[in-house]
Amino acid sequence: MIKEHEIIILGDSVSTKGYVKLIDIMGDEEKIVRNARVCTATDTLDISEIEKERLIRLLVIQDHGTPLEHVSITLKVKSPIFVTRQWFRHRIASYNEKSQRYTSNEPEFFIPSSLRVKKKDCEVEVLLEEYASLLDQIKTLYNKMLDQGVVKEQARLILPLSTYTEFYVTSNLRSLLNFINLRADKHSQTEMRKYANAVAEIISEIFPAVWHYFCYVNRRCINPHCFLEGEQETISIDKDNQEKINVEVVRCNKCDVHPKYYERLKA
Ligand SMILES: Cc1cc2nc3c(=O)[nH]c(=O)nc-3n(C[C@H](O)[C@H](O)[C@H](O)COP(=O)(O)OP(=O)(O)OC[C@H]3O[C@@H](n4cnc5c(N)ncnc54)[C@H](O)[C@@H]3O)c2cc1C
Repeated sequence: MIKEHEIIILGDSVSTKGYVKLIDIMGDEEKIVRNARVCTATDTLDISEIEKERLIRLLVIQDHGTPLEHVSITLKVKSPIFVTRQWFRHRIASYNEKSQRYTSNEPEFFIPSSLRVKKKDCEVEVLLEEYASLLDQIKTLYNKMLDQGVVKEQARLILPLSTYTEFYVTSNLRSLLNFINLRADKHSQTEMRKYANAVAEIISEIFPAVWHYFCYVNRRCINPHCFLEGEQETISIDKDNQEKINVEVVRCNKCDVHPKYYERLKA
C-alpha cells in the first residue's frame, strides 16, 4: 500500500517540484460494500471477494454513487496557483491552504522545461530565459517590499499564477472519480492532468475494484497515468506466478500495462 506518492511536474531543482502526497485513508472497498448492503440488511464486514466484486461492479456500472461517498482520502498537494485554482473548483471536497500572509517562505515558482507552441518559429529558449528572469525580478521586488516593511498581504499582490502553494484536500471517492474524469482527461491542461493522474494512481492502488470498473464504464485506459480512451480486450496473465488466467481489461493501444486487479466476473 502506498503511503506517500510524489510527483515532480517539472525540473531538477527542489524549488520546481510539485507533489501529491497521500496523508490519510478513511475506509476501504469492504466498507463501501458493507454500507451499500444495508439495503438488504446484510451489512456485515464478513464479505467474500466475490460478493465485494459483484456489488462494486453494480455500483459503478449503474452509477449508484452514494456508497462511494462513505470512503475518503486526504492528500497534501504542492502545486502552482494556476493548477490549484482549477482544483479548488471541485466543491465536493474540504480544503486548507497555506497562507501567504502568515508564512515566511520565499515564493517558489513553476518554470516549465519547455513551452507548448502553435508556431514553428517560436523562440522557446529565449522566452523561457525571459520568463525566468522576470520571476527573479518579482522575487527581488517581493523581498524588497518585505524588507521595507510592506505587509505580506500586499507584497503578495505581485506574485504570479506560477507561484507554488500547498494545501490539504479531503475528498470522498465519488467526488474523486468525478475529479479524475474531468481532470485526467485529454481536454484538461497538461499540468493539471499530471496532478490528476497522480490522484488516479493513488485511487487505483487503494480501491482497485472501483478503479477497474470505473475504467470499464468510462472506456479509459487502466493505466492511471494515461488519459487515453481504451478498448476492452482479454489478456492472459500469470496469476501469482502459478496459473494462467484470462483477464478482461480496458487499455489503450499504447499502454502495455497489466491490471493490478483481476476480476473474476465478466465486466
Ligand atoms: C477542461 C475543463 C475546462 C474548464 N473550463 C472552465 C472555464 O473556462 N471557466 C470556468 O468557470 N470553469 C471551467 N471549468 C470548471 C468546471 O466548470 C467545473 O467547475 C469543475 O470542473 C468542477 O466540476 P464539478 O462541478 O463536477 O465538481 P464539484 O464541484 O466537485 O461537484 C461535483 C458534482 O456535484 C454536483 N454539484 C456540485 N455543486 C452543485 C450545484 N451547485 N448544483 C448542482 N449540482 C452540483 C454536480 O453533479 C457536480 O458534478 C473547466 C473544467 C474542465 C474540466
